[in-house]
Order: sequence, then structure tokens, then C-alpha cells
Amino acid sequence: MILLRNVSKRYPNGHEALARVSLSLDRGAMAFLTGHSGAGKSTLLKLIALIERPSRGQILVNGQDLAVLSARQVPYFRRRIGIIFQDHHLLHDRSVFDNVALPLVIQGYRQPEIARRVRAALDKVGLLHKEQAEPVTLSTGEQQRVGIARAVVHKPAILLADEPTGNLDPHLSREIMQLFLRFNQVGTTVLIASHDLDLISSLGKPTVHLHEGQLQRRALEP
Ligand code: ADP
Ligand code: ADP
Repeated sequence: MILLRNVSKRYPNGHEALARVSLSLDRGAMAFLTGHSGAGKSTLLKLIALIERPSRGQILVNGQDLAVLSARQVPYFRRRIGIIFQDHHLLHDRSVFDNVALPLVIQGYRQPEIARRVRAALDKVGLLHKEQAEPVTLSTGEQQRVGIARAVVHKPAILLADEPTGNLDPHLSREIMQLFLRFNQVGTTVLIASHDLDLISSLGKPTVHLHEGQLQRRALEP
């Protein structure tokens, strides 16, 4: 499902954020990516989501070589992926419902289908009763759950999360991880960048460690 072969990423300023990273994640698997700030975790997720392009190496997602995707194909590719950020990137001048609906509106879904899917996604994260609320009136944990609902509303095959519990206390962090486990149990492939080692180790999923752009753990070797 996700395969990286000798992937390197050098940013235009010359900084090499990833060096010869190889890993594979099977369809339906769930894994964690750890490492200090600046280790390259976000960069790796951005390459998989085609937010950035690698400088070298090959990336296959769903059997598709990302190098051959044209700019026109990228939006279609992204529909198979849901992304969750630490600071959730919610729009504060729109309701919870409208925030979650956004990916579907962009994809041109019809209104009744949008309403059905948005409510299903909010139900999965336990926030159906907040659909008309403004994000600023929600707690940090609730805001993160809205971000997750928005990421899963189009039923992506792959969920990528970048420090999704970075701003949360241990109890809320555990709740958020349980949500990811549940999406994984119904078949979604999940890759989560996190430096919450205690929480990660309690979940019993494979973990790879990045250090200055290089992969240290061999758990997901292709
Ligand atoms: P992490 O998510 O593990 O904190 P990042 O992938 O964000 O790491 O960053 C890896 C390295 O690449 C860092 O040194 C960071 O400063 C650098 N970096 C990230 N994005 C850019 C960019 N757009 N341009 C230049 N350097 C970048
Ligand atoms: P530093 O940058 O301080 O040299 P590292 O980034 O290599 O350190 O990691 C710091 C410590 O945390 C190391 O001892 C490393 O083995 C440990 N560590 C980091 N990630 C994991 C993990 N996923 N599982 C177990 N230990 C980890």
C-alpha cells in the first residue's frame, strides 16, 4: 500500500530532510513514526501525500508510482488520503458541520450526500451533537476530533497524522489514539508521526524511528 525505496528529500535551501529512507506499510496496517523535532517525520508524510516531491528514490502508494502522476491527477490521488495535523487547521468562521463537509464540497458531492456523510463522520468521533457549533467554542480534544472527522469524511484508504496528540493531555491523547485504532480495525491504513513514546509503546503497533533524516528502526523494512 505504501512503499518507499531509497527516498531522499533535499529542500530548495539545500537542507537534506530525508536520506535514503526505505519502508513498507501493508494495506490495512497501522504504524508509528517517531523521532525528535526536525528528524523528518512531517517531510515523510508530505511525500506520501504528494504535498512535497522526493529529490530521489521511489514512492508507491496503492501500487501507483507517485513520480508518474501529473499535476492534474494529484487531486484525484489525494482523495484516497486523509491527513490530520497537530493544529487541526479548522476554519473558525464556519460551523463544525461546514468544516467537515469541506472536502466533499470541493469534490462536488450533492447536498443530501454531504449531510449524510458529514453526520456519519461526526458520529464516529462522538461529536454529532456539536455539528452547529463554532470550532472556537470546542475544547482542544474536540477540535482535534473535528479534524479527524474531516480527514475521514471521504472514506480514505490511508490516514496520515502528524503529531495528532501534540497539544493534548495524556487522557485525551489516548482517546484520540483509540479513534485511530478503530479506523484501522475497519480496514484503513494508518501512519502516525508522534513523539509520545509511552503512548505509542502501549499500543503494540510497529514503530520506525527517524534520526536526522535517516531511518533507525528496521521494523517496516520492505
Ligand atoms: P519533523 O516533522 O520530524 O519535526 P520535518 O520533516 O518537519 O521534521 O523537518 C525535517 C527538517 O527539514 C528540519 O530540519 C526542517 O527544518 C527542514 N525543513 C522542513 N520543511 C522545510 C522546507 N520547506 N524548507 C527547508 N527546510 C525544511
Ligand atoms: P538523539 O537525537 O538524542 O541522539 P534519538 O533521536 O536517536 O536521540 O532518540 C533518543 C532516544 O529515544 C534514543 O535512545 C532512542 O533509542 C529512543 N527512541 C526514540 N524513538 C524510539 C522508539 N520508537 N522506540 C524506542 N526507543 C526510541
